[in-house]
Amino acid sequence: MASPSVAKMPTTTNEVAVSITGMHKWYGEFHVLKDINLTVHRGERIVICGPSGSGKSTMIRCINRLEEHQQGKIVVDGIELTNDLKKIDEIRREVGMVFQHFNLFPHLTILENCTLAPIWVKKMPKKDAEEVAMHYLKRVRIPEQAMKYPGQLSGGQQQRVAIARALCMSPKIMLFDEPTSALDPEMVKEVLDTMVGLAEEGMTMLCVTHEMGFARQVANRVIFMDYGQIIEMNEPAAFFSNPQHERTKLFLSQIL
Ligand code: ADP
Ligand code: MG
Repeated sequence: MASPSVAKMPTTTNEVAVSITGMHKWYGEFHVLKDINLTVHRGERIVICGPSGSGKSTMIRCINRLEEHQQGKIVVDGIELTNDLKKIDEIRREVGMVFQHFNLFPHLTILENCTLAPIWVKKMPKKDAEEVAMHYLKRVRIPEQAMKYPGQLSGGQQQRVAIARALCMSPKIMLFDEPTSALDPEMVKEVLDTMVGLAEEGMTMLCVTHEMGFARQVANRVIFMDYGQIIEMNEPAAFFSNPQHERTKLFLSQIL
């Protein structure tokens, strides 16, 4: 990757951004997340990896209540996630999410995709929302695509729009769920570079990804999940050079 090494990454703080304690989740009878404990400090960048089906998506989706947990506690920026819809709304405003399949609205232009939530959720005047959107489209380096529709853009460009769209809500925390795994290989780098840029600016990030170069470059900690549990968590250098658990070793031998 052309971009900088870990040394350039901003330092983290002691302020807690996300705290998950003793969290369990079931899908019907299926116990998908088992006793998840994780504290993420403001400015930290966490990479989550693990085999398919291990619960990575479910775990990060619980943080903005796209999935509901049944036991334990999740606190985001000081707000506990309960059934209180007002609190769920509040949390969703602070947490941006980028999915594997972009999830842009196909019938709206790139600019409209980016201004929709600021106008309807934040009640921002249209003109201001457009200004903010153009700012972030410039930042992901595709302002010239603003008037096009998602279908006219490459996968890498669409994913950068998805990142810009999330940033338009001024999130304090960004969740990424395998943002590059649906992309053609030549487009992976442009999306990862955008994410590295966000990390350099101090964004708190939880990223499910198997891009281990990215993990080495930006992560404070790498988490390995298997069968619904956090099996191992360490800083990247130690995680890759000296994994503690057999399952982590096996997984790394398969992907590296
Ligand atoms: P990962 O992201 O690590 O691949 P997921 O969180 O998507 O894992 O899924 C974890 C497990 O939960 C898998 O066995 C998956 O089949 C199951 N699962 C995911 N979503 C649902 C759902 N909505 N209903 C029932 N089971 C689900
Ligand atoms: Mg997943």
